[in-house]
Amino acid sequence: MTYEEIRALDEQYVLPTYGRFPVAIDHGKGATLYDPAGRAYIDFASGIGVNSVGYADPRWIAAVTEQAGKLAHVSNLFYTEPCARLAEKLCTRTGMAAAFFANSGAESNEGVIKLARKYSFDKYGEGRGTILTLRHSFHGRTVTTLAATGQDVFHNYFFPFTEGFRHVEAPTLDEVQAVAGHDVCAVLVELIQGEGGVHPLDEVFVRELEQLCAKRDWLLLVDEVQTGIGRTGSLFAFQQYGIRPHAVSFAKGIAGGLPMGGFLVREDCREVLGAGTHATTFGGNPICAAAALAVEEILDDAALEAVREKGTYLKQAIEGIGSPLVSEVRGRGLMLGVVLKEGVSHKKLAARLIGSGLLCLTAGSDVLRLLPPLTITIEELDSGLAILRRVLSDIEQEEEA
Ligand SMILES: *Cc1c(COP(=O)(O)O)cnc(C)c1O
Repeated sequence: MTYEEIRALDEQYVLPTYGRFPVAIDHGKGATLYDPAGRAYIDFASGIGVNSVGYADPRWIAAVTEQAGKLAHVSNLFYTEPCARLAEKLCTRTGMAAAFFANSGAESNEGVIKLARKYSFDKYGEGRGTILTLRHSFHGRTVTTLAATGQDVFHNYFFPFTEGFRHVEAPTLDEVQAVAGHDVCAVLVELIQGEGGVHPLDEVFVRELEQLCAKRDWLLLVDEVQTGIGRTGSLFAFQQYGIRPHAVSFAKGIAGGLPMGGFLVREDCREVLGAGTHATTFGGNPICAAAALAVEEILDDAALEAVREKGTYLKQAIEGIGSPLVSEVRGRGLMLGVVLKEGVSHKKLAARLIGSGLLCLTAGSDVLRLLPPLTITIEELDSGLAILRRVLSDIEQEEEA
């Protein structure tokens, strides 16, 4: 089918909940994607941080096809090897004690929310179920995770939202204490806020927050749905912050393109969710788990070091363009936010870049967000940078004219 045919069919039969770009993607290789007409796009978006090992990696394909030929699904009423091995791998690489597998980021966050509330209920009884989250955070699109999300634009239409979330206005200990009460059981944070604008939290604040949580017996819950699985140059971002959260959620990049999520818990939280308290039909699906094991193998320590190096390379190259349209480049590893000067529309710039053959994302109100596949080559980074350089300079010249 041509792009026009796909678009017409989609518009007729798919609910119009997405503002799509006028591009259809047919296939990919490495960090390069192709539309149905064969036109190439350099990928600085990886399907919103999902395609962590790029497209058509032979090790990933082998793992998925082999497992598909053996067993696609059997439910959590039975044991399967890929699920058990993946949990072991994630725990040994992080020092966490045990895993629960889910299917999406929002669902994974629902899991850590339930964990925190039950931890508190078991110890203190009712009335201590409130969870603090930060302004500009993003935690998902379910009725509960929308309530957790600290952005007012998400608190519309779908009333009533789940109770028991309070938003901290700024990432400082004073602001946390300003909304803390005896009803609090946990704090849920992204260490680098993704959707909200690629805002890294201050390391001192994060360590102080960990201490405050320990003092008040609050669980420290870290949402690593976007920052996890190598994105920032360590398997999880919390490892670079030098903290030990009680629970950490993941999803996007875990299975390299297949839908999977979940969370890891610390030793002191492993007994909280006992048999019958939490479940999901597809969780730990053998094909997704086999794919995730391949991702873990590809993203070994050397690959994570390469993510840090390529992140520094990309950041410095963008700073080096010296565009008057750009005010700052921030982030860690291959999770970068290009902050634009006032009056430059991030949506329009992203559309121009995509039209010019570079897939990218936006975040917050003024940020171009870059999340390339973690296995992207320097040559592909350079091709993407050349497009970025050209489009920025075209816009500058149009503004002068
Ligand atoms: C994308 C994202 C989510 C939601 O994940 P879904 O898979 O879309 O449900 C939650 N938290 C963060 C930090 C995210 O980036």
